[in-house]
Amino acid sequence: MLVFPRDCRFVQSVVEAIMVRSERTSSEWFEEAARSYVERHQGCAWCSGSYRVFQVRRGHCVEYYCNGCEFRVGHDEKTGRYFSVPGDENVGKAPETMFEI
Ligand SMILES: [Zn+2]
Repeated sequence: MLVFPRDCRFVQSVVEAIMVRSERTSSEWFEEAARSYVERHQGCAWCSGSYRVFQVRRGHCVEYYCNGCEFRVGHDEKTGRYFSVPGDENVGKAPETMFEI
């Protein structure tokens, strides 16, 4: 008898989470960043940290920048264009590594 549905489901959900994240468009990232900024107290859509995202407005451009993982996403309201720069994948793991030492 093979009984490991829970493990399989866990792996499956992780794989799906990674796929969803990498397949997001810049406009979707912008929406997520704006939501995290408000709902999670300047939270980051990329690394999920709080109190680290800056909202910057320059003319007709709105930009969210994470001080923790350097994730960046912006929207040009004049042209309607979005852009996003991926953050550092290892930021969230740093504290755990320090605890092990
Ligand atoms: Zn971040």
